Amino acid sequence: MSAAGTAVIWFRDDLRLADNPALAAAAASGRRVLALYVLDEDSPGVRALGGAALWWLAGSLRALKAELGQHGVPLVLRRGEAGRIVPDVARAAGADLVAFNWRAGKAEQAVDEAVARHLSAAGVTVERTLGHLLHAPGSVRGTGGGLPRTFSSFMRAAVKGRDIGRTLPVPRLNGAAPLPCDDLEEWALEPTQPDWAGGLRTTWHPGEAAARARLEAFLADGLAGYGEGRDRPDQTHVSRLSPYLRFGEISPRQVLLAALAAGDAGTVPAKDVQKFEAELYWREFSHHLLFAVPDLARRNLQASFDAFPWRECPGDLKKWQKGRTGYPIVDAGMRQLWQTGWMHNRVRMIVASFLCKHLLLPWQDGELWFWDTLVDADLANNAASWQWVAGSGADAAPYFRIFNPVLQGEKFDPEGTYVRTYVPELKDVPARLIHQPWSAPLELTRYGVRLGRDYPEPMVEHGAARDRALRAFEHTRKDL
Ligand code: FAD
Repeated sequence: MSAAGTAVIWFRDDLRLADNPALAAAAASGRRVLALYVLDEDSPGVRALGGAALWWLAGSLRALKAELGQHGVPLVLRRGEAGRIVPDVARAAGADLVAFNWRAGKAEQAVDEAVARHLSAAGVTVERTLGHLLHAPGSVRGTGGGLPRTFSSFMRAAVKGRDIGRTLPVPRLNGAAPLPCDDLEEWALEPTQPDWAGGLRTTWHPGEAAARARLEAFLADGLAGYGEGRDRPDQTHVSRLSPYLRFGEISPRQVLLAALAAGDAGTVPAKDVQKFEAELYWREFSHHLLFAVPDLARRNLQASFDAFPWRECPGDLKKWQKGRTGYPIVDAGMRQLWQTGWMHNRVRMIVASFLCKHLLLPWQDGELWFWDTLVDADLANNAASWQWVAGSGADAAPYFRIFNPVLQGEKFDPEGTYVRTYVPELKDVPARLIHQPWSAPLELTRYGVRLGRDYPEPMVEHGAARDRALRAFEHTRKDL
């Protein structure tokens, strides 16, 4: 170790100072620390971020720069191919150590491998640590030695004898001299013409401090009752931590240990903590899947779905994207997504099922739309969840389980509060009609709604759509 040396911490999906093993390794080396973020849109196979995620990233980088600045550590921003930029920056900084946290995507890993080889050949030490997950991908194995095939066997294997360690404090940092840096504003990550991000700005505050505050608020007000309440989009029982976890402004370990501590302290019932822990493990499962199946976002995990007779209908896809299907719970979800960059999990399942089953449109179309519009758009979670709903995924919901959007709405948004928030044209419609406004078109006019003029007629009839979906599924099975 050279006390006078410089260490580069290469930030990626881990935009935080606390519980960041790569940053901790750089600091513990005793070197002066330089921080680097590369907006890599050029490396082969690395998927460019969607619009909402880019908006989030801008806020997150601003927050990270300010936090690092308080510790005297400069953040260098560069745009381009990471395989070229990281070694260049290390050379310019005279660094003899580069630290970064591990990533799950295959293309990202190829970039990391190339960077590590390049740096090692130049005599630079490379530290690769685990910061984005609780368990290193590939490390959770079933009895046969491979990835467990079902979520429950995955979780059993993962928690057995686990040691996820303790959270790491913000390390004591000694900043290196700054290097030339791109101007974040010139990256133009946020939309201007048109500026569609107004709803995102009023809903979210990216950054590590906001992530901590969100976790605290959830522990105080959401976690107790999570087990039941997590299915209710009209309530506030979910954590809304997903974009913070996606960009690593908080670590899964910080979140899990805080939830377990609340359970141990007796402030939250054990069953709510267990349910929340399971959701964090769905995230682990998805990342393990992505590691095992790099083209998870394109290829059906179950090959039988390759013969599925999906329709191609850009007009229907557009109605779904715009929240104009005529099914209020579906439209509310799609509009929540467009306005705020986020959608409640129960409603994600309903809208995804509607796309794949009622409209028979390929799950990949939905995955792409979510990728562009979610602030938490995540390669592993998004692809694995879409395949789960479509029925083509690992341990997926069977295809023949087709959500009835009316019953789902009546069960999980019984007063219609959620629908009224995002479909204001139905705001005066009573609860008994709100999930099926077409059932009493004349009565609707009393509440100022004429179907087909103020709110669309349903684009498909549920029973007919269900039968068509089941026939399509049978056809697939015959082709096996
Ligand atoms: P909470 O209920 O508070 O859960 C805590 C955390 O656990 C979440 O922040 C998330 O990191 C993780 N988690 C919860 N549910 C799941 C799940 N089913 N799969 C994987 N991780 C989970 N999640 C994303 O983070 N990014 C995506 O791009 C994404 N796309 C999805 C697409 C579809 C079609 C569906 C059905 C689900 C998708 N999810 C995705 C999973 C889930 O809907 C979100 O993680 C969750 O709604 C985020 O809200 P929350 O933070 O309040 O969740």
